[in-house]
Amino acid sequence: MYVTCKKMESHSEVIARLRAAFCTRVTIPLQFRLTQLKALLALMEENEAQIVEALHKDLAKPKFEAVLSEIDMVRNDVCYAMNNLKTWMEPEYVATNLATKFDDCTIRREPFGVVLIIGAWNYPLQLILLPLVGAIAAGNCAILKPSEISQATEKLLAELIPKYLSQECYVVIRGGVEDTRMLLENRFDHIFYTGSQSVARSILQAAAVYLTPVTLELGGKTPCFIYGRLDMKTAAKRLVWAKYFNLGQSCVAPDYVLCTAETRDALLPAIREALEAFYGTDLQQCPDVGRIVTEKHWSHLMDMLGKSKGKVVIGGESTREEKYIAPTVVVDVDGTDALMQEEIFGPILPILTMENLEEAIDFVNAREKALALYAFSDDPKIVTTVLENTSSGGFCSNDGIVHMTLPSLPFGGIGASGMGCYHGRWSYETFSHKRACVLRSWALERVGAFRYPPYSDANLGW
Ligand code: NAD
Repeated sequence: MYVTCKKMESHSEVIARLRAAFCTRVTIPLQFRLTQLKALLALMEENEAQIVEALHKDLAKPKFEAVLSEIDMVRNDVCYAMNNLKTWMEPEYVATNLATKFDDCTIRREPFGVVLIIGAWNYPLQLILLPLVGAIAAGNCAILKPSEISQATEKLLAELIPKYLSQECYVVIRGGVEDTRMLLENRFDHIFYTGSQSVARSILQAAAVYLTPVTLELGGKTPCFIYGRLDMKTAAKRLVWAKYFNLGQSCVAPDYVLCTAETRDALLPAIREALEAFYGTDLQQCPDVGRIVTEKHWSHLMDMLGKSKGKVVIGGESTREEKYIAPTVVVDVDGTDALMQEEIFGPILPILTMENLEEAIDFVNAREKALALYAFSDDPKIVTTVLENTSSGGFCSNDGIVHMTLPSLPFGGIGASGMGCYHGRWSYETFSHKRACVLRSWALERVGAFRYPPYSDANLGW
């Protein structure tokens, strides 16, 4: 049992309540969806200070990062959906053949029903509200399960959602691992999960019971190739920004760098310079440097760093009480290193040296496919070679993270980094069933009569 907006209700009671609301078709009209999206926008606008405060409590997230990567991301996506929803909802006319020439052949986007959205702690607001935009736009009812690890944001979402959105259609359920397991024992019409690969396996197992369709937004080790000539200062600035944004706790942060020994030697002073320019000389006191989400996550990162055979050449300082780890760079790392066995998801950047680009590409292709992949070079041939000879959820050259800010691009993984995608129209598509419809007329009965028995070979070539 847990508290929803109204009273003590069991999971199954809440789901039944939402299902009953869905069955009244209240979520179907364009106007209802637009009203809910507008209310979500108002939630963001009227509570910005509280949201910033909650994100600061959870991750010491700097205000700039909170606004850029959580509040504005959601605001932009809501506005994009509101501006385009009427067009998205129109039936899509498809090509016909001779046998269906006089029929209305369309794809209709229809909601699944009651969907479950489970979020992770690193962008705790965005990872719940961005999928919700798609769920609302597509006409679904939704249960939202924010991460219990980012407690302040979880609590704030549970307070704000019922104040702004229809309580009959959208509900926040709070709880930890056991509660989520119990919640997953129920039937949903779609499950949208953001989090780790290991938990994703449990999600798939739970979904298998009812054959529930799932979207999995997972992580992985995002490689960053740095090859050929390039402006090292600019490259270092972009790399440092992408890596240490949210103190490295981003699913699309560069996980490790691949380059030649010569490039590494030029890159290291440029990284030091960028770090000092961004955060000064006392990084721990800098308000633009966040914190690791919990002591447990801090210990895990420090353990990984401790087991590494590599050499720390930048950073390495840490304080358990403050859950602080300095932006850190480690060299002399190979594929067998402790830092290369799982996604780092923190401010530690290993640099692996490879003789040439081919060796680096082979290294990446021998591993699980990443959520993102970056290639830095002045030479467009190098960028194209990396792009065409690798596979990943998304790709960006000469920068990191920025590809995921465009609502026109699908965001999602491939292989172990996830299945399905969202953002912008892609969220609407993810939460819509594409119903294939032929609205047939009674015309041309004589033309179609060849198909009826008794069959004749003469009619096969018709
Ligand atoms: P987490 O621990 O917050 O877990 C995510 C959600 O799963 C939470 O709501 C949690 O309550 C629930 N959960 C945890 N264990 C569970 C279990 N055994 N059964 C059912 N539910 C359970 O977050 P995390 O998993 O540590 O997230 C970090 C991972 O998420 C990283 O791998 C990161 O790359 C990935 N991530 C991916 C994206 C993306 O958009 N692709 C975005 C952010 C994070």
